[in-house]
Amino acid sequence: MRDVVIIGSGCAGLTAAIYSARANLKPLVIRGLEAGGQLTLTTLVENFPGFPKGVQGPELIELMEKQASVFGAEFKDGHVTRVDLSRRPFVLEAEGETIETRTLIIASGASARLLGLDSERKLLGHGVSTCATCDGYFYRGKEVVVVGGGDTAAEDALFLTRYADQVNVVHRRDQLRASKIMQDRLFRNPKVKFVWDSLVLDVLDVERGEVTGIKLKDAKTGDETIKNCDGVFIGIGHSPNTSIFRGQLEMNETGYLITHDGSKTNVPGVFAAGDVQDHIYRQAITAAGSGCMAAMDAERYLQEQGTGIRE
Ligand code: NDP
Repeated sequence: MRDVVIIGSGCAGLTAAIYSARANLKPLVIRGLEAGGQLTLTTLVENFPGFPKGVQGPELIELMEKQASVFGAEFKDGHVTRVDLSRRPFVLEAEGETIETRTLIIASGASARLLGLDSERKLLGHGVSTCATCDGYFYRGKEVVVVGGGDTAAEDALFLTRYADQVNVVHRRDQLRASKIMQDRLFRNPKVKFVWDSLVLDVLDVERGEVTGIKLKDAKTGDETIKNCDGVFIGIGHSPNTSIFRGQLEMNETGYLITHDGSKTNVPGVFAAGDVQDHIYRQAITAAGSGCMAAMDAERYLQEQGTGIRE
């Protein structure tokens, strides 16, 4: 029986682990399918306080995990396939193991969203990617497309200019959503071109098993065109990883967990932190902050229940 189990090992989960480990609660962190979370898919993080020269995302995560381990947090690879929050203690199933816990901190984050095209799914890993920092290297001297107009798309496009000769940002409107500083960098980069008001209808060519281009529709005129390219990076945002909690925890219409009074969910003893419950700020530092809140809320809950206080 555990006092605290944390689902997810991004900045929210790891910060929760640091705090609950320091409270002597010996948390178990179940790393999840995308261990380390979104920071492991990025390069230089320039806005995490304390790093005036920036810090590599994977390094920051590694440091957080080490810090949690120093205080006694335990880690388990794999992901949770089932939860029962109607019983006390809560019951989780992960990699064939059944785990019981008095409190649960959900920090399962959000995963990259796809356009929903059949061809996109078929060519995923064969020219279609959701991770520029993972796959950009393969496009040296080539032409690629980045779909999206937010900070993810902007960051991906800028990263890809290190390798590709031309990076086309395909956006469904004629204005970017990305922050001003990222927009300025994009507009200044001679390798970045924009394809405005364009919807991706199809990724070509499934038959050849590789990306040769995309079929586009002009959102204003309805005209359809083909844009040749060697790779397509989808940067259209993220969806929360909450399917296993459906029917047990309150969530909004897009699946983000609803929290109140800090990190509390509608089930006492279950707390949520990071991107799984935040569709507004979604920053490493806000995720870390909410992980801290969840750990403190869990500790307080255990104290109120008269359990989980260890010498
Ligand atoms: P956003 O939701 O901000 O942007 C998603 C983009 O994709 C929008 O431009 C949207 O278009 C477009 N889009 C969404 N769905 C579709 C679709 N089905 N077809 C075509 N286009 C689509 O997500 P991001 O992941 O970019 O950013 C999320 C948050 O994370 C933001 O707060 C951002 O600031 C932050 N972030 C910060 C970074 C940094 O600081 N370096 C890096 C990455 C993210 P439309 O504009 O028309 O809605």
